Amino acid sequence: RGPLLQVKGLKKYFKVNKQHLKAVENVTLDIYEGETVGLVGESGCGKSTAGRAIIRLYQPTAGDVYFNGENINQYSGKKLKQLRRDIQMIFQDPYASLNPRMTVEDIIGEALDIHGLARGKKRKERILELLVLVGLDAEHISRFPHEFSGGQRQRIGIARALAVEPRFIVCDEPISALDVSIQAQVVNLLQNLQKQMGLTYLFIAHDLSMVKYISDRILVMYLGNMMELGSSDELHENPLHPYTQALLSAVPVPDPKLKDRERIVVSGDVPSPLNPPSGCVFRTRCPHAMDICANQVPEWKEVRENHFTACHLYE
Ligand code: SF4
Ligand code: MG
Repeated sequence: RGPLLQVKGLKKYFKVNKQHLKAVENVTLDIYEGETVGLVGESGCGKSTAGRAIIRLYQPTAGDVYFNGENINQYSGKKLKQLRRDIQMIFQDPYASLNPRMTVEDIIGEALDIHGLARGKKRKERILELLVLVGLDAEHISRFPHEFSGGQRQRIGIARALAVEPRFIVCDEPISALDVSIQAQVVNLLQNLQKQMGLTYLFIAHDLSMVKYISDRILVMYLGNMMELGSSDELHENPLHPYTQALLSAVPVPDPKLKDRERIVVSGDVPSPLNPPSGCVFRTRCPHAMDICANQVPEWKEVRENHFTACHLYE
């Protein structure tokens, strides 16, 4: 059985003052039905742009995306409308993505209306069912977004996404803005919903620890490029790329296995995507940079089984 989603050579550039901002330079990735792929990198690394370009909220500059084996870049009309149903997005800031003047009933109902999914009494029943599904109560139906906590608002965002019975959801930093105590609850909810409904997730985060438990595989991105891809366990136990190693060493986890690992400090900021470094884009911050790193883009290679990276250290 083929992948649910195939991303091939995806690029997304934005024009800024006649220059190209290379937000996504090259992303190639298969995502299988029922799995969660974590997409990780510091802010400004192109994760959100990649997420949006993958689901055609942004038109890619180059590259193709296949959903269910069909190229969605050519979709229009009915096909595009169905795609907008099959693929949903959950946002980082649920408050900004929920209309403050709409009640929960209106917010979720709107999603149902757009796709003509339920009317009248059925519509209200379905909204109540969705509220229960995400751990909210029937009495919440007539309330406004500001009457909820951050975690509850994220639950409303999740209910809205689920209303149209999607198959694939891009979760763009859905827990980054929440209190640490609430983060695990939302992750658990997303995991339970995934099991119940066979959902597939692309889960975007800036922190590896946030995606560790929910992800089957993790893709690490830096300046629009793929640095490393592997199973969540493999990536945490044997990080290959210096950038992944740096991200991991910055995680304050009480894990005895990590104690002896060399702590790498990544100095400086992410360079501008208007003018990315030649060769390996990470070289200006890499503690292992060599001459070749400035001249040659490292190849994407399977270094261990199902564990890929792009780094001259492994050539
Ligand atoms: Fe560092 Fe060179 Fe590897 Fe890039 S290719 S991560 S600069 S060692
Ligand atoms: Mg972002």
